[in-house]
Parts: sequence; C-alpha cells; structure tokens
Amino acid sequence: MAPEAQDVDHMDIAVSPDNSREYELARMRHSTAHLMAEAVQEMFPDAKFGIGPAIDNGFYYDFDLPRPLTPEDLKEIEKRMKHHKRKNEVFERKEISREEALEIFKDNPYKVELIQGFPEEETITTYSQGDFLDLCRGPHVESTREIGPFKLQSVAGAYWRGDEKRPMLQRIYGTAWFTQEELDDYLHKLEEAQRRDHRRLGKELDLFSVSEEIGPGLILWHPKGAIIRYLVEQFEIQEQLARGYDLVYTPHIASEQIYKISGHLETYGENMYSPMSIEEVDYYLKPMNCPGHIMIYKDHVHSYRELPIRLAELGTVYRYERSGTLHGMLRVRGFTQDDSHIFCTHDQVVDEVASVIDLAIHMADIFGYRFEVYLGTRPEKAIGDEATWDEATDKLKQALASRGLDYIVDEGEGAFYGPKIDIKWLDALGRAWTGPTIQVDFNLPERFDINYIAEDGARHRAAMIHRTLLGSMERFVGGLVEHYAGAFPAWLAPEQAVIIPITDDQVTFAQRVEAELKAAGLRVHVDTSSGRMQAKIRNAQLQKIPYMLVIGGREAEAGAVAVRLRSGEDLGAMPVADFVNLVTPVIETKSLDLRVPRGEA
Ligand SMILES: [Zn+2]
Ligand SMILES: [Zn+2]
Repeated sequence: MAPEAQDVDHMDIAVSPDNSREYELARMRHSTAHLMAEAVQEMFPDAKFGIGPAIDNGFYYDFDLPRPLTPEDLKEIEKRMKHHKRKNEVFERKEISREEALEIFKDNPYKVELIQGFPEEETITTYSQGDFLDLCRGPHVESTREIGPFKLQSVAGAYWRGDEKRPMLQRIYGTAWFTQEELDDYLHKLEEAQRRDHRRLGKELDLFSVSEEIGPGLILWHPKGAIIRYLVEQFEIQEQLARGYDLVYTPHIASEQIYKISGHLETYGENMYSPMSIEEVDYYLKPMNCPGHIMIYKDHVHSYRELPIRLAELGTVYRYERSGTLHGMLRVRGFTQDDSHIFCTHDQVVDEVASVIDLAIHMADIFGYRFEVYLGTRPEKAIGDEATWDEATDKLKQALASRGLDYIVDEGEGAFYGPKIDIKWLDALGRAWTGPTIQVDFNLPERFDINYIAEDGARHRAAMIHRTLLGSMERFVGGLVEHYAGAFPAWLAPEQAVIIPITDDQVTFAQRVEAELKAAGLRVHVDTSSGRMQAKIRNAQLQKIPYMLVIGGREAEAGAVAVRLRSGEDLGAMPVADFVNLVTPVIETKSLDLRVPRGEA
C-alpha cells in the first residue's frame, strides 16, 4: 500500500543525508518522478501537475489530464523517459520569490495552492531539466543519467490532498533502483507477493469470502478456512492451558456504563459503532475484551496467593474502520482476538512478561516465522508519572534480557497507558507482520480499582498486562495464507490427502483406503470425478493438497498407494499402513516438512 500523499513536492521521505543509501535512493526516485512528469508534459501539454514524492520502493506523480491514461500511455511515457535520461539533462535549482512563483505557475491551480500554503519564511525553489520546470524543494540528482533503472507500474485515482471533496487526479506509480539486478529482484518479489495474495488464494482455495449483502469488512469463513482457524485456535488454547491460563467467555455487547468507567467511550469512541438501546440503556458492540475480563477478576476479592491470574478468551470485537482502509482479512470490522489479561503483583511482572515472550517465540517456531522485537516507550501524551514509566519499561527490558533477546527501542511508541513489547513476524518473503503484543497498563487498574489482598492484609493495586499473540484470527490466518503461499503444512491443510483411483475398477479399494485413513484421523477424500488421472493430480496441486495417493491396478492388488507430494515429488508405492506411519508423526509434531517430523530434519 502506498503512503498517503504529502503536501509539498520534494523528495518527501523520512530519511536524512546520514542515512546515505536510503537518502540517495529517495533523491534518485524523486528525480525519476520529475523525469516522468517531463514525459507526461510532452504528451499532454495542458497537463496540470500535483505532487510527485519518493515513496517506499519508488515514486509517484499526480496529474490532472484531459483523458484517462491507458497501459499504452505508460509504455509511451517510459519510452520518452528513457530518451530524456540518455540526453543527460541537468537538474537546475533556482530560488524565486513568491510573486515569481505565483506568476510562473499561474495556470496550475494545484501549484498555486501549494505556494499560497507555504509559510512566510519558506525559500521557494524550482528545479528544471530539459523543458520541464517544477515547483520543488528538492533535492535532486545532478543530471538525468544518474537515474537508475526504473519501471512504471500502475495508474490509480487519487484525490487532491487526499480529500474526497477535491478533484480526482491520475496517479502514476513507478519504481526505480540503482541497478538492474535490484529492479528485477524487486519486481520478482512483487510478483511473488501478488501470487501469494490471501484475497486471491482465499478465493482459489475456497477459504473465505466477503459478501456485499453481509457488509464490507466482515469475514465469512468457509469450511476450508474454518478448519484452519479451528486448528490454530485449538493449538493455542492447549498451549495456554498448559501454561496456567484460564479460559473465559464474555458477551459481544455491553452497556455504556462499562465503557464510561473504562474510558473507551471517551478515548476510543470514534472506533466504536453506534449504540443500540435496550430498555432505555445504551449498549455497544464491544471494541475490546479488557473490561469483561476485569469484571470477572473483580467478581470477588483475590489474595496474593491466587496471583497471577491469567484470563484468556478468543474474544470477538467490532471496530469501525473506514471503507477505504478495509483489506481482505487483514483490515476488517469484526475480528476475533486471542486476547488475554494477566493480573499479578508488581513483583511478578518480569516473570509474567518473560513467559508470554516464551509462548510468542514458540508460536513463531511452530508457524515458521522469524521475528523482530520492538520495545515501545513513553509517548508524548501519556498517563502516569515518569518514575512509574521508567520502572515498568525497565521490567520489560529485564524480561527481554532474561531471554537473551535483541530488540529495537521504538521511542515514544508505547500506548498512552503503558510501555509495550511488539513482536513482528517476518514471513517467507521477509515482510514484517503485526505479531504478539505485550502491554503493561497503568490506566485500567486505577479506573476499575483493581486490587488484591497482600501479605500485610491490606489492599494493594494489582498490575495488569494485556497480551495477544496471534493478534486477530482473521489477520493471522490471512497472513498464514501468504506466508505459506496457500500450501499449508500437513497439520493445518484443510484436506491432507486426496485418493486418486486411475480407473473405476479401483474405486472400491480407494474407498477402503479412505475409511482406513479417516479412522487414523486424516482429512481425506476420494476423487471420483470423471477426469483423467493427470487432471486430478493437477487439480490437487492447485488446491495445494499435501499428499496425493494414486491407485492403479497394481497398487489395488498389493494393498498399496503411490504417494506423490504437491511439489511433484514422487515417493513411490507403499502399503497404506506405511503412509499412515509417514504422515502421523509429521502431523503430530506440526512439522513444516511433508516427509520429516519436526525436530528430525
Ligand atoms: Zn522535485
Ligand atoms: Zn486488553
């Protein structure tokens, strides 16, 4: 996704000259945007220009043009860009007065608006190359030959200044790199990301859908997606129970009273849906699970001997997200969090956080993610005094140190109510995904007067930790689809094996094998469709079914199956019992390899 439009045309990316490669890339990419604008101006002399900043991986420029651009136009623009690049046109910077600027750009309402918005003391500059002149803060490369290999990628509509009440401009996105190799590598990764897109695979593999009639941002889990979610949830629940968590359930709606106490109506109200009135009391769809868990904790008085209390829920919450921001399963309006709240003494915080980290690392290992750890410290707007923050932040650091973890300090990125640890999953393409988050809270314990009876017989304030590991089931499973490119490990695959009889003569034996495998706990079916064997194998590969068991006359006679993997690898014929012995430990150990159990690779 591209960043929001910036308001001024300059290289506009948060890099300083110290960060030399990033800085030089951004400067070169922004120069490529000017090169593109030069070509567009040549083709459309009446074009009016918006802004053209560098962005992650490339650049864009917004144009007001007499007609919609076609793919052929992009080719033509690229051709002209290459021509001007070869001419090695020099980028010339010039300082001008506000009056001169308004005169030069008087036919372009967008630039006029930008100029009028500049602060008094702003030095106004233009950059030119060839016949193209632009209002720009720079910086730019010396000349067009310094621009690296580039490619124009797409055209999209973009409102001027991101305001839907302003004119819609045409935005051309492009990418540019220092070397052809880097460009090829980037385009390859992009293609790979598109191939793995969970929205596309979700449809092809029949995992989930979003229905206009049900409403945007609301996920319908189809059977094959639901079984994946069920298996992930069961696995996580078992892990939690084994680690001293208690399961709870809380309602999907709650009265306004609770959200007044929690402060959600005040601080989070814009993300909540309008209330429904029940016997003259306003009820809200819950945006968070914390208040419910707190009320369970507060239902009776707790002694220090009972702590820590770890309440866990697969809690479904509803949050308002603008329709423009919705994205498949990743950004939705209703989702289920693997949420937990830990109530403990302040002395127990380090150990509790450390054991959440252990569980988070275990999750990363099981699903095959690498990860990065971030520590979010006190933001500008925060509650709690500095000493409290320092102490809590120090506890998070101690917990991280106890596990020997390197982490990146995200200055000011804590929640307003306390510091936090964020773990980002790094997927198969090296992309970072939101992962576990562990937050210390100074706010809710005060608001709800959460306490326990200490050894001294007096009431003491309890510490409270919020944590999710997978985040939301929607986002996590969507991410898994992309991480695995739809080829789920055997333990998660909706269908683990398909049995393919070569002719109708083998159907009876195939059904016996099916019954045997089902009895062994496998998700398996016989493909009795009329297609040829090759077509059935091809179909199973498209469905990313891990194992294909082909049965011809010879196999049926020998009580065997010929085992093929979805990768195309042929494991040869084996007795049915051998196949069960092969896959059972692979599934039980949640191995990421279809042939070898976890730990034996
Ligand atoms: Zn510029
Ligand atoms: Zn919470």
